[in-house]
Amino acid sequence: MSPGTQHFVCTLCGERFKGRLFALNRSARRLVFGDGHSAAHVEGAIAIATYCSEGCQEFGVPCGMEEEQVPIPAHPPGPGPIEVCAVCQGPVDMSQWHLDYSVSVEEERGPSILQVIGDHSIAVVCGHCTAARGSAQAAEEVSEPLRIE
Ligand SMILES: [Zn+2]
Ligand SMILES: [Zn+2]
Repeated sequence: MSPGTQHFVCTLCGERFKGRLFALNRSARRLVFGDGHSAAHVEGAIAIATYCSEGCQEFGVPCGMEEEQVPIPAHPPGPGPIEVCAVCQGPVDMSQWHLDYSVSVEEERGPSILQVIGDHSIAVVCGHCTAARGSAQAAEEVSEPLRIE
């Protein structure tokens, strides 16, 4: 996807962006835990929706998550190693491939330069629920990661 906010219009209100890009993202992730730290392997990250402002993001994210059929948990997922699946409330082993939903803010620093200034997970979904929901593409992202860094 080519960066640059001028290419985007707000999913919610249709407004063009003015220097900042607010997004709802989905990706397949797997955490690798080391000595006191963890690193994330990320596959197939996409922006499900992009918003022009914090206000539109606030209103838009619940709609976007509803379309994904994933409820937003009251408590956002933490750093693991075990978190709660937003769909079945079962455990999500963060060291295994799972779906991650996050909201992010990016700021335009120049032509085609977007810098991430905020990004946090709002929900994680276990591999079982991902497959059960019949989201073939998403399930593939979880079950068949191609690259291990
Ligand atoms: Zn908007
Ligand atoms: Zn689940």
